[in-house]
Amino acid sequence: MAMIQGECKYCGQLQNIDAETKEEADQKATEMCECDQAAKEKQHKVVIQRIDEICHASSQDTGFTPIDDDTYKLVCILADKIIDEELEFVKIELSDRILSISKTTRGVVKFRQKKTVEVGIDG
Ligand SMILES: [Zn+2]
Repeated sequence: MAMIQGECKYCGQLQNIDAETKEEADQKATEMCECDQAAKEKQHKVVIQRIDEICHASSQDTGFTPIDDDTYKLVCILADKIIDEELEFVKIELSDRILSISKTTRGVVKFRQKKTVEVGIDG
């Protein structure tokens, strides 16, 4: 390890980083940077990781069966757009649950899955 000057890939801010390569230094500098774009990238990673955990958690833990791969991919794409504020609110109605993704005015991304249970008759 050596001290290398890393550059945030979004705003170009330089920081001295303990790294093996310039590439690694740039990567770390971007992670540590507090500019808007770097913050969004960080949020993206955290949110997608949490969504991944929820979508693939065992039903014992959550009461929900894991979400299938295609729907999961779709959720990730839509969550991306929510983080980037291209979309404000997304609701996906599956046969057994409703998924929703939104972002509060304070910038917090919310992902929810809600069971839809219905009992009734039509006479
Ligand atoms: Zn930056």
